[in-house]
Amino acid sequence: MTQITNRISRLRQRICQAAEASGRDPAQISLVAVSKTRNVDELRAAHGAGIGRFGENYLQEALPKIALLSDLELDWHFIGPVQSNKTREVAAHFDWVQSVDRIKVARRLNQHRSAWSQPLNICIQVNLSAEPQKAGVVPDKTLALCREIAQLPRLTLRGLMFIPAPTSSPGEQLRVFSRAHELYESLRDAGLALDTLSMGMSADMDAAIRAGSTMIRIGTDIFGPRN
Ligand SMILES: *Cc1c(COP(=O)(O)O)cnc(C)c1O
Repeated sequence: MTQITNRISRLRQRICQAAEASGRDPAQISLVAVSKTRNVDELRAAHGAGIGRFGENYLQEALPKIALLSDLELDWHFIGPVQSNKTREVAAHFDWVQSVDRIKVARRLNQHRSAWSQPLNICIQVNLSAEPQKAGVVPDKTLALCREIAQLPRLTLRGLMFIPAPTSSPGEQLRVFSRAHELYESLRDAGLALDTLSMGMSADMDAAIRAGSTMIRIGTDIFGPRN
């Protein structure tokens, strides 16, 4: 467990370095610890080292962890594919859903979000390279989807989420993330009140921060390699 603490302090240094290298304030970059496949003891260790946001990909895996950690003040981010028959539980147990790419799913989340809870924070997942088999709305259709979601009262549209195709070339990473940032800025210019650009994982967070990411989602560099 001290390994997790050590990894988190190295990660914070890396975030600071990447931010300072591009003249940004590291406080503008929020960190989501991606905890798929990890047990609650590992999550508690991360929380002990200052982590307050966790990202989970699978509802069935996440629900027991959320229940077992209900004594902590945590923000839960759903970052996996949202099946429309799971929207009731996702809307009930999560604070954010970062992987919305269809109006149907957004409407169902809106319908199931309780009037006593804060509105559910939403990011739209964008498929930047329009790869046919990949999740995400294509760039051309993003503005229209944003406008529809922005009208749903139980949701707060916060921004965009990107998972680009993996590449180890920092130049290519930067090129793709810069296009993501351009799309994000164009939506803000169109009048949408977005404040979240979620991009950057363990292998590409430095490039993402340089390109303007405001939220990175880190698993491996916090918890170690997954099996
Ligand atoms: C697993 C996952 C991550 C974290 O990836 P690492 O490479 O382990 O940092 C981030 N975002 C999403 C959507 C994921 O599924």
